[in-house]
Amino acid sequence: MIGIEMDEEKNRTKDAAAEQKRHWVRITRACNNRCLFCLDRENQNGSVITMEEIVADLKRGLDSGARRVVISGGDPTVHPKLPEIVAKAKSLGYGHVQIITNGRMLAYPKFAADLKRSGLDEVTLSLHSHIEADFEEMTGVKGSYKQALAGLLNAQKQGFIVSVDIVINEINYRTLRETLRFYIRLGVSEFDLLYPIPFGDAWTNRKRLFFSPEEAHAYLSDAFALSKDSDLYIWTNRLPAQYLEGFEDLIQNPVKLHDEVRGMGPELSRLVERGEPMSCKGERCDYCFMKGFCADLEELLEKKELAARPEPLCLRSAAKRKKPVPIFRMDKDFTLQAFTDFHIAHRYFVKSLRCRECRHTDSCDGAWIGDIRKKGFSILKPEANL
Ligand code: SF4
Ligand code: SF4
Repeated sequence: MIGIEMDEEKNRTKDAAAEQKRHWVRITRACNNRCLFCLDRENQNGSVITMEEIVADLKRGLDSGARRVVISGGDPTVHPKLPEIVAKAKSLGYGHVQIITNGRMLAYPKFAADLKRSGLDEVTLSLHSHIEADFEEMTGVKGSYKQALAGLLNAQKQGFIVSVDIVINEINYRTLRETLRFYIRLGVSEFDLLYPIPFGDAWTNRKRLFFSPEEAHAYLSDAFALSKDSDLYIWTNRLPAQYLEGFEDLIQNPVKLHDEVRGMGPELSRLVERGEPMSCKGERCDYCFMKGFCADLEELLEKKELAARPEPLCLRSAAKRKKPVPIFRMDKDFTLQAFTDFHIAHRYFVKSLRCRECRHTDSCDGAWIGDIRKKGFSILKPEANL
């Protein structure tokens, strides 16, 4: 199969997986790691969620139509009844049960075997480096590297589907290619590469974590080149598209924005209904994946209507210029979901790092993400300043 067909088929498979309805159930407010980029630390008090609450949450997911459940925490393996919870999820009707964990508890073979017996299908392990010192700088726990590696091997021995999450940051981006190759050699073929989110500890440690797109580009491209292997599945999560020039098939499916909006639902509703500014608004917006969406929503609230973005000058044709411009209006039927759909279809635009050289860059928002995912950033043609 030639490269581009392979990329398209892989993208269809990945998009189909991304669009499957999943229900997330948090079962602990505790974790045995102290990761530099933890988003959750301020919500952690060392406790576990009661079985009654967990079962009610599992049922809510089934009622909403989900048949896959993702069990998380904190770290879910800290819950003393995890095998029981997995078995309950299965008996209630979930066809696929996944846990997201730092993997350290899986170093105990009996624990891994108990999870297998309870019906667990998939384990996602957070393994942010293959270099022990870097790994433990990120997890904050001495000994966590060897335990997590043993956990990975035990998970494979039990026959779980095993995938690996890596938060890309200043500590590990230069060695990302070697990290991927290390885990590939250990039999992993699915990776989710996450960008830090400027909240919780990641915000406190932002100077240690966030990195420059220009400096990282060559290292990351080297790592992303591994995704051309047809047996390897790499997803990205909130990674700004500008990092992915040449690997646009790795740009996260824009429909995932709905998950972010659902997660921020109460705050966004207060903004829409009462005009209460988002509590997170400020310096961190420049680091935040939601920057474009939040700016659009504020503009809509101010002007009561928002038009589709124009195509960038380097792509604009006379025929397209004559088309009517779709407009979203604020009315009594407003829903965040409808607005998110409009934003994705008409306002979710991205730029290449090369756009900085273009004389239109200050007045241009880039091109629609759907076109870039399909055709690549190479369609953009920066015009030199004369
Ligand atoms: S962009 Fe939105 S979600 Fe992100 S920090 Fe700013 S206000 Fe909060
Ligand atoms: S090259 Fe970039 S900045 Fe220039 S017109 Fe095209 S999208 Fe806009």
